[in-house]
Amino acid sequence: MRDTLVLNASFEPLSTVTLNRAVVLVLQDKAVVEQEHPGLRVRAAAVDMPVPRVIRLCRYVRVPFRRQAPWSRRGVLVRDQHRCAYCGKRATTVDHVVPRAQGGGDHWLNTVASCAEDNHRKADRTPEQAGMPLLHQPFVPTPQDAMLLALKAAERSELPDWLAGQAA
Ligand SMILES: [Zn+2]
Repeated sequence: MRDTLVLNASFEPLSTVTLNRAVVLVLQDKAVVEQEHPGLRVRAAAVDMPVPRVIRLCRYVRVPFRRQAPWSRRGVLVRDQHRCAYCGKRATTVDHVVPRAQGGGDHWLNTVASCAEDNHRKADRTPEQAGMPLLHQPFVPTPQDAMLLALKAAERSELPDWLAGQAA
């Protein structure tokens, strides 16, 4: 089965997603089917709908990074959903896994979201040297990651601040 193309509310193509993900977005009223595979239907438990070839998001989402995904501090925080890579609490800073003092650079695979406390505690040491293992490995975000993260961020922005802080 081919992947489903996702359009922004503005009809601008964003990314492809798996069929499962496309069906979930439609069932959650986050997207509408623009084009279907003729004659094919998704049938499961309480679901019976055409197999979407193209879906379009109901609301415009601002995607934080594009195909080339240039590195940025903001992009790292969005990629890691503002969760500290060392303790899982809310992160507001970006930490260099291999510190700049040891030659580590500004790129996706060497940077993680971090709370200010852990960033300060780790200082100019690697996670091994500091005895602070990473909860997850940094990765280079794909256009699909970028779109799904933008959808999540759009949901959070509809929540009251105190709750949005929890969800982040
Ligand atoms: Zn932390």
